[in-house]
Amino acid sequence: MSGVNTPSPLAPVRFSDEEVDRYARQLVLSEIGGPGQQALKRARVLIVGLGGVGAPAALYLAAAGVGTLGLIDHDAVALSNLQRQIIFTTADAQRPKVEAGAEHLAALNPHVAVEPFVERLTPANAPGIIERFDLVLDGTDDFETRFAVNAACVATGVPLVSGALGRWNGQVGVFTGQPCYQCLVPETPPDAETCARVGVVGALAGVIGAMAALEAIKLITGAGEPLTARLMLYDGLAGTSRVVKIAADPACPVCG
Ligand SMILES: [Zn+2]
Repeated sequence: MSGVNTPSPLAPVRFSDEEVDRYARQLVLSEIGGPGQQALKRARVLIVGLGGVGAPAALYLAAAGVGTLGLIDHDAVALSNLQRQIIFTTADAQRPKVEAGAEHLAALNPHVAVEPFVERLTPANAPGIIERFDLVLDGTDDFETRFAVNAACVATGVPLVSGALGRWNGQVGVFTGQPCYQCLVPETPPDAETCARVGVVGALAGVIGAMAALEAIKLITGAGEPLTARLMLYDGLAGTSRVVKIAADPACPVCG
């Protein structure tokens, strides 16, 4: 596993026949196979924000067999979420997102343990929560939370997969120390806007959430080249993408 807090060599995880069947399409991949599937089962991933990015990412990570998923979100499901947060159903309206999400993930894959946190991630509670996980996937849309997540990830050495979107565009990057997220975004941009204001296409949230989940799977299994210190920019309207390098900021208040 590259970049993830790997526990010292452990006894192999035993998979039931049902699990071998369930994960058959991953087990045949040379980059995942049995060792990668075991790494997924041992992995503890914290998803910050069960929103446009976090909701589809949670579904793919649960389906892939990540052993423990932490879900942190203080919000309740709103009807306006359903257009893109496809983990929820109409009957979930007004329910705490974490409670409804945990239920649907258990229905998708009963082998996944969900650790729910019905609270807001803050600079005060972030390090204590994040240090209990191997990897953080952040899809929140407010910079205060993003900065708190980043600072705690740098302090605890936990890798961060970050996804963001708005209108028709999205981006995904991976941060493992230096450069950190705040090297990329030093302070809240003056034109910062939320999806509630500017709008977003639901399918775009699916693209970015799935990309973030894919990066998490690569980090956990050691497959391929994670987007470490790189940012993938996806333009849904144009149907194009590009990858830019992220430079470390020597004056960064978090990792500098
Ligand atoms: Zn930094």
